[in-house]
This record gives sequence, C-alpha cells and structure tokens, in this order.
Amino acid sequence: MPKFTGEQIQQLNAKLKTPQEVLRWALDNLHPRIAVASSFGAEDVAIIDMISNINPKARVFTLDTGRLNQETYDVMDEIRSRYNMNIEVMFPDHDEVEQMVRVNGMNLFYHSVGNRKLCCGIRKVHPLNRMLSTLDGWITGLRADQTEVRSNSNKIEIDSQHNDIIKVNPILEWSWEQTWDYIKKNNIPYNKLHDKGFPSIGCEPCTRAIKPGEPLRAGRWWWESDTEKECGLHADHGK
Ligand code: SF4
Repeated sequence: MPKFTGEQIQQLNAKLKTPQEVLRWALDNLHPRIAVASSFGAEDVAIIDMISNINPKARVFTLDTGRLNQETYDVMDEIRSRYNMNIEVMFPDHDEVEQMVRVNGMNLFYHSVGNRKLCCGIRKVHPLNRMLSTLDGWITGLRADQTEVRSNSNKIEIDSQHNDIIKVNPILEWSWEQTWDYIKKNNIPYNKLHDKGFPSIGCEPCTRAIKPGEPLRAGRWWWESDTEKECGLHADHGK
C-alpha cells in the first residue's frame, strides 16, 4: 500500500484546487485500489460523471442494505448503462441480518438509538469495512456544509478509522447549488427522490423528505432529535 505522510497530504490539499484535479491525482496514484463509495445521491452521481471522464475504468461501489428505495435502484441502473460500468454492490452478511431481525424485529431502528446503530452497523458499516479492507483509498461525496463531522474533513485525508487508507472528498467545498449546476449542465441521471424533497439518500424506512428551512440531513432518522446524523460510515461510531 502506498503510504503518504501527513506533510505530503497537507501539500496536496494546498495544491489541488478543483474536484477534477483531486480526482485525477487519486486515480493516477491509487487506481485500481481506489473506488467511489456511492449511495446514488446528487453528490455521488456528479463524482461518477467526473471520474468516468478521467478514467473510464474507475471503480464504483455501493452498499445495498436491503432497505433502499426503488428510486435508488432505478438510478443505479441508469448510471450503469450511461457510463457502461459495473457497479460493485456490497451486501450485508446474511447470518448477521437473520440473527438481528430474529432477536429485534424488522423495524428495530425505531425502538432505540442502540438498535438503529446495530442495524447501520450490520447493513452498512460491516460491508463498507469489508470493501475498504481491499483498497488503498476511497472517494466520497461528502460536503462540508452537511454536518459538523463533515465540516472538519479535508479534500484528501488519511483515514485512521480504516487502516490509514486515503480518503478523498473532492467536492467537500461545493455547495448544494454547485452540485446541482454540475448535474444539470452535464445532463447526469439523478435519483428521483430529490424531486420529492429528499436532499439526502438513505434507507427507505429511515429517510424522509425535509420541510423548507430544515437542515439538509434532517430527514435522516427523523425520530431522533439530538443525535449526530451519521450512520458510522464517516464517524467513529456505529461499528
Ligand atoms: S439507515 Fe435504517 S434501515 Fe438502513 S441500515 Fe441504518 S438503521 Fe438500518
């Protein structure tokens, strides 16, 4: 695995300005041991378009929790055919899911924060860790204005949560509006849940549309009022 020092990463963050510059560096240095983690929200489809222009063989993976919306499967297939790419779909371990729902029920996440994190752990975090253990880097659609955790990220960072591989957040500094300008300008297929008031794409039972003025991630686990709106993929919890 190529190792980069903190100083090298700092220099790269200062030098690489645009998302395309960041992605070109990442793909030139880490492909094929780097992949985009996509939940098929707006940010992710914009990044998929960019990487396809840089390297048509760039890799994309997604976590199919088994609880996604039909709209998400639809855009997955649209992207697959538009860019002629194999999307690497990661599923949860069936033994873990079977045991979890046997003990806690199908809708366990509504009953407690602990149950919700258990479900996110089994359906998302474990499959993510399985994929990341095979990679030297991953690319995400994080934007700084989404949550406090995300506002403390960098465009390129060493991911101490995942064996010090490189985490690349090319559109960290983009706004929601910039993301949509890019999608519209390039006529990129997007998740139709966005037209129904969903800024953030997650699992069907845990995500709702937001009301005008609500924070962008308010629709995630809407029944929880005082928790960080993360599932453990980008924060050190939920494993
Ligand atoms: S978002 Fe909800 S359904 Fe999806 S993995 Fe987390 S708790 Fe389970």
